[in-house]
Amino acid sequence: MKANRQINPTKYMSFSINMLTRLTALALMLVHIFFMVMFKIYGVKEMFMFNIFSSTFYALLAFLTNNKPHRLNAAASITIIEIVVHAALATIFCGWDCGFMMFIICVAPFPFFLPYKSDFSVYIMNFFCGASFVAVKIFMMTGDRVIYDDISEKNANYTFLFNCVLSFLLITTFSTIYKVKKRLDEMELIDKNESLSILAKIDPLSQLFNRRAMIDFLQSIEKNCKVKGESFVIAMGDLDNFKHVNDTYGHSKGDEVIKAVSEIMMTSVPTEGYVCRWGGEELLFAIPSAAAEDGVRVAESIRAQLAAKKFSSEGESFRITITFGICECDGSFSYERALTVADRRLYYGKEHGKDRVIAGEEAGEE
Ligand code: GH3
Ligand code: MG
Ligand code: MG
Repeated sequence: MKANRQINPTKYMSFSINMLTRLTALALMLVHIFFMVMFKIYGVKEMFMFNIFSSTFYALLAFLTNNKPHRLNAAASITIIEIVVHAALATIFCGWDCGFMMFIICVAPFPFFLPYKSDFSVYIMNFFCGASFVAVKIFMMTGDRVIYDDISEKNANYTFLFNCVLSFLLITTFSTIYKVKKRLDEMELIDKNESLSILAKIDPLSQLFNRRAMIDFLQSIEKNCKVKGESFVIAMGDLDNFKHVNDTYGHSKGDEVIKAVSEIMMTSVPTEGYVCRWGGEELLFAIPSAAAEDGVRVAESIRAQLAAKKFSSEGESFRITITFGICECDGSFSYERALTVADRRLYYGKEHGKDRVIAGEEAGEE
């Protein structure tokens, strides 16, 4: 984990919802084709015609809602209305005994599953279902209203059973769509939270870890190395005469330089290491299970790559160098102390010509 994880929030496709919606529309189309045949056999020509319209409507719906999630609310609302109207008319034409009214009870809670913008729409749709049921019952109560009263008791019973099963499947399907949608929303939220917590650890300019994240890493590196009885190395780098770059070429050119140095560090520090922007033009890397020589080797490589790099601004070219202070920590002292030592060595390097890597001996330390 040499630097940040590339931020690429997973895009949860509406695949599952899309598939489920299309399958539901196609299933409803098939059901209406079945009803069409049934009403033809029963001789209920009005309902036969209605089912021609309904099956065509659901075939169109499957097509019109494909990959169009913004149409799902409207499509679901029209579906609820169609089911209620169909159930009410079928009851008026064929009688209460065929059980078509069950569909109205089934769809009554569906508006609560839909992501309507206002609760008002939910209750309007819900009221529409309840009111339709009551209205049909009152209509049927006031006189002998069944238009096709010649449907046999046996046929009415089978139709009732069929409608029972269908109502059950309908409620299961809608609930499944709701459940899948809820799960997908949860996954999206988890993904967003993860991206946010990564963003909180990243310095926006350099795309390196920030100081706060690095302190967490240093604490865990220190702990692990103590447990394993190993040492780790940290290197504190500071760009030389960076103020001059800003003053001469402008602040944005300075930013460009910071980005370029960060790139070099990211590619030079081994995978098990960590790189951060410690502050302004100070960059720090840490490598667990490593000795001072490893830190010096990596820092020297970064130093040499940067020194060889040519920057340009408005036709003028310039170079920039970096000075590093290295400290190996074998667990006998804290990472805080290692930082202080690295900083002292960095300061020594600045005082003794800059563009160098100081690990201790050069500063007269043992
Ligand atoms: P030294 O070699 O002793 O380190 O000299 P220096 O000029 O690099 O050090 P000094 O501390 O005098 O100046 C650091 C400059 O870095 C001053 C500050 O404006 C600049 N700086 C800090 N953060 C940023 C940044 O994000 N972008 C830019 N462009 N400049 C920055
Ligand atoms: Mg500085
Ligand atoms: Mg500096």
